[in-house]
Amino acid sequence: MTEATVIDGKAIAAGLRGRVTEAAAILRERHRITAGLAAILVGDDSASQLYVRNKSRACAEVGIASFEHRLPGDCGVSTIVELVARLNGDDRVDGILVQLPLPHGIDPRQVMAALDPAKDVDGFHPMNVGHLWRGEPGLVPCTPQGVLLLLRSVHADLSGVEAVVLGRSQIVGRPIAALLLAADCTVTVVHSKTRDAAALCRRADILVAAIGRPAAVMADWIKPGATVIDVGINRVPVADRPPRLVGDVDFDGARRVAGAITQVPGGVGPMTIACLLRNTLLAACRRRGLPDPLPLQA
Ligand code: NAP
Repeated sequence: MTEATVIDGKAIAAGLRGRVTEAAAILRERHRITAGLAAILVGDDSASQLYVRNKSRACAEVGIASFEHRLPGDCGVSTIVELVARLNGDDRVDGILVQLPLPHGIDPRQVMAALDPAKDVDGFHPMNVGHLWRGEPGLVPCTPQGVLLLLRSVHADLSGVEAVVLGRSQIVGRPIAALLLAADCTVTVVHSKTRDAAALCRRADILVAAIGRPAAVMADWIKPGATVIDVGINRVPVADRPPRLVGDVDFDGARRVAGAITQVPGGVGPMTIACLLRNTLLAACRRRGLPDPLPLQA
């Protein structure tokens, strides 16, 4: 029995980061512009602190300036919105990232709506959401963008391909569905109220799992030869050891049925940061009327 090809997210992300590094250097040398990313961290959630640190380090590696702004967890939405307004007007800043989740009681929609859409490198501002669904140029959310690039590494042509997206969150499932639709896939979105999710999944040439349920997608949900992208990141407790990271797909079982599959970790995760860097560079160019240095199709 042949096993599925493992799609190497780390290698594909490293390739994209390499292209971002080259494009950032050209921007500096030809136009005297250093792209800049500002990250806003509210509260003291340790996972969020780690994510922001990793993003700052990734910026330094590709030649993008990074600015970290920390606010106390009880600062209130108006303080965050004031900071966002200041960063909107700061010419050194091309991208603004608000690390989610925000502390309880702060409505992320209010914060996202305050962002200049041209600096919204997470692609969560309603204007960018609208652009995505209308198939117009905007800033596309990073994880969904990463999923599309992984799929393109396997499928030269996505037109007419039957795709099932498990999950319909605003930041993952829905934008993935929009991107696949724009790529001419036939898209079905499965969520917690869907009847017989397994039967729908078995029809999929492309199955994207983004539900946050450890190993919920079993081998018998997968059409033989399908491409499976596992977005899930779940921390499963292990006695006397740090929790183990697993995806939404039962990898060992799925691997025996699928044609190509991503792993957790090492699949979608590395693509998310690479796409954030790409978006920052893209925002830096677009704000100044320069052409897109790294088109998504590339
Ligand atoms: P979320 O906001 O909790 O949304 C989960 C979605 O899955 C919801 O639409 C929910 O349906 C659906 N769902 C839950 N249980 C289901 C089930 N048994 N069958 C069918 N659908 C079900 O989560 P999220 O933010 O989209 O994240 C999803 C996963 O991706 C998480 O594990 C997260 O950690 C991971 N993630 C990874 C990255 C990365 O870089 N790799 C980035 C972001 C998120 P309803 O809408 O009906 O409730």
